[in-house]
Amino acid sequence: MHEKPMVEKALIAPSTYKLQIETINHFAAGDIKKNKLIMDNIPDTPLSNQVLLAAKQGTPLVTFGKKQNPGILVLAGVHGNELPPQIAAVKLINKLAAVKTNITIHIIPFAIPLSTEYGLRSWKGQDPNRTADIFGTPTNNILSTAKKNNIKYLGDFHSTRPGGYPGRLSVLCSETPCMLSFQMADFIEKETKSTILSFTKAGSIYPGALEDVFNIAEIPAVTGEAMSPHGTIMPGSIEASLEQMEAFLKFHRAYKVSLQIT
Ligand SMILES: [Zn+2]
Repeated sequence: MHEKPMVEKALIAPSTYKLQIETINHFAAGDIKKNKLIMDNIPDTPLSNQVLLAAKQGTPLVTFGKKQNPGILVLAGVHGNELPPQIAAVKLINKLAAVKTNITIHIIPFAIPLSTEYGLRSWKGQDPNRTADIFGTPTNNILSTAKKNNIKYLGDFHSTRPGGYPGRLSVLCSETPCMLSFQMADFIEKETKSTILSFTKAGSIYPGALEDVFNIAEIPAVTGEAMSPHGTIMPGSIEASLEQMEAFLKFHRAYKVSLQIT
């Protein structure tokens, strides 16, 4: 018999999910359902709906595997107007619900649900990806959560507008203090069509960027950038972001069977 797509399996058997959903950043709760482009592009499954319901309470943190074990974090939505990685993250959650994972995988599909609800880039007038070193900000709370949950590696996924920086499908990293940041990016570059953009020292160019703050905290991190104008979805950009996420998982040998679905 022809095997059914995994997303359909997830639809049929929601009780088999080996995952937990919790919320952090309750002050950043938002109604993702008000963002039509997100809603038109995420899988219509009970699991997606659970994530959307959680986002109304705060930043949803979806965990596959034992929470106390060392794990990796896939993050999207630091910039609420960057839609492709947020959609890709929900797709990834649905895919992972149907496979066996080797390690603990945490996914935050909407870092700041309130920003996503309104398609906003900033949080209280500031770029959330420049304030991860400031106590109490949504991104600083994600760092605290990572430490608390024994998260050892971060992939932070964004999209970049043509003509902006980096303005191309790329993966950003640094070489010190965590050479693993560079090694993860090097792997993602080889697995996808992304260009590696490596900096010698974390935090030297963009202080307060989540990737840099994680690297400085010695949690090796990379930033994936797919190409898409802000607030829209360029054709192929969701797939490009998802490929970067899957390459990040593959580097960590995170799952046993192929995630490819028809
Ligand atoms: Zn961004």
